[in-house]
Amino acid sequence: MRIGIIGGGQLGRMLALAGYPLGMRFTFLDPSADACATQVGECIQGAYDDPAKLQQLADSVDVVTFEFENVPVSAVAAIAKNKPFYPPVNALGASQDRLSEKTLFRELGIPTPEFRAVDSLADLQQAVNEIGLPGILKTRRLGYDGRGQYRLRKASDIDAAWQALSGSALIYEAFVPFTREVSVIGARSSNGDIAIYPLNENQHRDGILHLSRTPYRHATLQQQAERYLKKLLKHFNYVGILTIEFFVLRGKLVANEMAPRVHNSGHASIEGSATSQFENHLRAICGLPLGSTAPRGHAAMLNFVGAIPAQENALRQQGVNFHYYGKEARPARKLGHATIVTNTPGARELALKKLLKLADRS
Ligand code: AMP
Repeated sequence: MRIGIIGGGQLGRMLALAGYPLGMRFTFLDPSADACATQVGECIQGAYDDPAKLQQLADSVDVVTFEFENVPVSAVAAIAKNKPFYPPVNALGASQDRLSEKTLFRELGIPTPEFRAVDSLADLQQAVNEIGLPGILKTRRLGYDGRGQYRLRKASDIDAAWQALSGSALIYEAFVPFTREVSVIGARSSNGDIAIYPLNENQHRDGILHLSRTPYRHATLQQQAERYLKKLLKHFNYVGILTIEFFVLRGKLVANEMAPRVHNSGHASIEGSATSQFENHLRAICGLPLGSTAPRGHAAMLNFVGAIPAQENALRQQGVNFHYYGKEARPARKLGHATIVTNTPGARELALKKLLKLADRS
């Protein structure tokens, strides 16, 4: 089986690393000649919306998937007509626009923060009047890791927010005073089987995921998250891994966004779960039985963003699994992560303390 992956970043790389033990082969489409996944598979160099390159990818593989959600829907719709293409194009499209995503959540009964579409300064003023402050103005499309966002604390921030982001279609959202952030990740196969992981608890720094702990055990929230995820999986007739990120507010889940792909908050599943999110995505899109999502212990995952510990120091740490993505260091760039899996939550916190110290020195 040869898998075609649109995008050659670390998610593609980890998909390939999960697929080799199953006898799979990989071809990536990426505009960059040195995309980090090209170290572990064949690469077609080209733009994501280049119809000829997409066709070349589709012709050389058995199934096509993608590792990031800003792939133009119009470009991939053509290849999805005559080649298995998962997750489905409609889920990709819905996830690309924060307004249609949140509108769909509401239609399916999945709670979201209050939101309004903003296309003019007058819209923004009205949205702030109706929803109140604090709030966040976000670009509807192409925003990720906190980019394309402006936080408004007082009415006098309105003009600056509009100056910063006007020119793009926007959405204004109420700021959610959450007690924690969690994500749910699950896979659905074409025969309708579903496998859902326990919740991850996530901490962000500057809008970028910093640390995840899993499992986050909370029976009521787990039930709610699974119910919402299943609604989306069924709605899209989904195949592959789907992630929803939530805020926890007064003991209830409020959905922030979904990602139709493997997710950074699920990286600990490589060592921390019976089957990783990467393997389950491949199983789902290849029509294979899904694997168990049972945790192997109490895991934590720390992202290395902008800088990564030197291997001479890092690899001295026993019981820590380091993942170097083979990327050149740049500010705000995800360069790798480390995972620990322990028998108790207490042991996890101790191991995490040491790991955080090492990360601070890098
Ligand atoms: P996003 O790009 O929408 O995932 O936002 C990145 C991070 O910004 C989230 O994980 C939150 O920590 C924070 N954030 C985004 N939207 C909101 C919101 N409406 N209320 C509070 N925090 C938010």
